[in-house]
Amino acid sequence: MDIQGITLNPALKELVAKVKPDDPNIAGIRVGQFTPDIVRLVVDLKHPIRPQVFSLAPVAAYQHRLVLDLYPVAEIDPLEALIADRAVESKAAQAAKAAAQDPLELLIAQHSQRPATNSPAMAASSPKAQDATKTGATRADSTGASNQKDSNSPAAGTTTDRLIIIALDPGHGGEDPGAIGPGGTKEKDVVLKLAHLLRARINAASVNGNAMRAFLTRDADFFVPLGTRVQKARRVQADLFISIHADAFFTPDPQGASVFALSQGGATSSAARWMAAKENKADMIGGLNVKAKDATVQRALLDMSTTAQINDSLKLGGNLLGEIKRVGKLHKPRVEQASFAVLKAPDIPSVLVEAAFISNPTEETKLNSEDYQNQLADALMRGIEAYFAKNPPLSRNRTTS
Ligand SMILES: [Zn+2]
Repeated sequence: MDIQGITLNPALKELVAKVKPDDPNIAGIRVGQFTPDIVRLVVDLKHPIRPQVFSLAPVAAYQHRLVLDLYPVAEIDPLEALIADRAVESKAAQAAKAAAQDPLELLIAQHSQRPATNSPAMAASSPKAQDATKTGATRADSTGASNQKDSNSPAAGTTTDRLIIIALDPGHGGEDPGAIGPGGTKEKDVVLKLAHLLRARINAASVNGNAMRAFLTRDADFFVPLGTRVQKARRVQADLFISIHADAFFTPDPQGASVFALSQGGATSSAARWMAAKENKADMIGGLNVKAKDATVQRALLDMSTTAQINDSLKLGGNLLGEIKRVGKLHKPRVEQASFAVLKAPDIPSVLVEAAFISNPTEETKLNSEDYQNQLADALMRGIEAYFAKNPPLSRNRTTS
């Protein structure tokens, strides 16, 4: 790329060091003053990409920006990745179990497990079991041979399962820091930490013998447009969507957690409306090419049959509030509703959790404390489990798009 009318500056030079070795797309960046008037920027790629270039007018703390979005030509299917990841893990667990066992014991164990594989999980409840088989089959199709092999393995306690997928959506990221506490804590950092802690708990849990898997809409400090967060969750056919944020106000007093569901009409309160407007602004700050918003997401947002989604979201929100109040304060005792862009997946119960007020000095300290982060992650996990206890995930119809 030749950029005319600029000279090489420290910001451009720093780009080179910003590329990490494990970057999925970029192998390296080189910059140089090509002519006195032109800076040449070379991006070395790991595989073919489809670039999109656009400029953005100044917003928030940012001046005019030139944005380069690099989309891989052949995208990895995130659902396949989750299933593959899970298969590797259960194989490793089986191997570890086998290694720890005496060979004779292992033989006995394998022998005694074989007849049991069909009964306990499948017999739990027949409509669910049916659904599990159906969904399992759909997903097996997409992974092909590796899944097939897995179901033939002898030590199978959970091979007929389908994954229960929880999409976790840490708010903000990249050039959008979210709210900033009086001590300098950035919302984007604490919510990512919370998501990682909750992910560990989810990945170790199961519902009715079906393993759970967390899928993060962003796994590091980068910007993800709001519509893309919804789209990512839909692509992995998430059972739940939980967006994690930290609240802020102009004065230091407000405190406590809130949970939001989508509203079909107006917001529950003017505060809820204000909150939605604030969170929805992320796209402007992060640098979204509004003209090029994905058409499928646009359609999904318009073509909504959201009543069932909202009802389930209110239940999930209620369960989460019930557990959060055991570890911290609540800002509002009931689930509020407003038009958050990120809650608009028509087929996934979706809530937005404002974990605490980052603008309140006491709560900012708590949000930074590892102890409280763990308590909060535990509470959210208990809330998810309480929700599934009453609303089994397998009874839901899924769209496979
Ligand atoms: Zn936020």
